[in-house]
Amino acid sequence: MSRPIEARIDLAALRHNYLIAKSHAALQGRPAKAWAVVKADAYGHGLMRAAKALDGVADGFALLDLADAVALRDSGFRQPILLLEGLFEPDEVTVCAEYGLIPVVHRIEQLQMIRAAALPLRLPIYLKLNTGMNRLGFTLEQLPAVRRELAVSGAIGAVTLMTHFAEADGGRGIDFQLERFETMRQGWPDTSPVEISLANSAAILRYPQTAHDWVRPGIMLYGGCPFAESDAASFNLKPVMTLHSRILAVQEIKPGERVGYGGVFEATRPTRVGIIACGYADGYPRHAPGGTPILVAGQRTETLGRVSMDMLACDLTELPDAGVDSPVVLWGEGLPADEVAAAAGTISYELFCALARRVPVVEV
Ligand SMILES: *Cc1c(COP(=O)(O)O)cnc(C)c1O
Repeated sequence: MSRPIEARIDLAALRHNYLIAKSHAALQGRPAKAWAVVKADAYGHGLMRAAKALDGVADGFALLDLADAVALRDSGFRQPILLLEGLFEPDEVTVCAEYGLIPVVHRIEQLQMIRAAALPLRLPIYLKLNTGMNRLGFTLEQLPAVRRELAVSGAIGAVTLMTHFAEADGGRGIDFQLERFETMRQGWPDTSPVEISLANSAAILRYPQTAHDWVRPGIMLYGGCPFAESDAASFNLKPVMTLHSRILAVQEIKPGERVGYGGVFEATRPTRVGIIACGYADGYPRHAPGGTPILVAGQRTETLGRVSMDMLACDLTELPDAGVDSPVVLWGEGLPADEVAAAAGTISYELFCALARRVPVVEV
């Protein structure tokens, strides 16, 4: 038998979660379209797999890499495709035109690249406004130069105004960003109506009034909850990735014996230790401390000591029926990735994205 670790990807759950995003985005009575955000190999779930699962369901796909976008087109996907970081090189402009890709434009040089390409058609763009995230996009002060460039360019088709929220999941909320967005949008000439795209998962769930024309759900598609204080199930989101493995050895240790590198865990009672075929080289976070929740044979227990490259240990003392070959769930069905992530001081996004290549993936 091969090493028992595998990631199971529930494609029906992915479709279900996409429709949950759409239903929240329609709470204001007007349906919004939704980009399925499939960047980072669909948050570690596999770009092509996710795209196939969402084909006929998703209104469009949003990602970063031009090569990935071209691969989707070459595989026959006809949905709109949005390039979230836009163009990096001038020669990418013609690829966008040829393959029907919509670039985000966040620097004036990108508009100039599009003009210089002298395309036979006008390229639709997403104009990114910096309303306070301060990563990408134009400020209010830069907008007049953008509009001058648009006016002389003749190379730009439909413009969608977008921004990205820094704290839709947090205490500061989105009001300050919405105010800045509104000021910037008002400067837009009435003669050229624009569509609007603001909301990520957190905003879709918490501020459905921000849905407008297009929303951009990412983590919620994969069943992750964008909020630390609630859980995915409370939004009826289903886990898509479940990381399974098995117990490959059991150690019975006496009080005072230690487990694993650094001897970080020391037994204070007779302890049954389960050794699991999963380590940080599989994508399990090395910084997950002892005490991180884990499921063995459907029952909750906790990890012991340090995570090694290929193995980690868990406590079987209270699970007398569990032993070698018992099934283990590291995260997913029955154990939310958000909970494991929180114990490890990170977020489910990072767990999903870190799933290692060596872990076989099966679709369910
Ligand atoms: C990644 C990303 C999203 C999706 O964010 P989630 O928090 O995963 O929903 C939306 N918009 C942009 C611009 C992004 O980069």
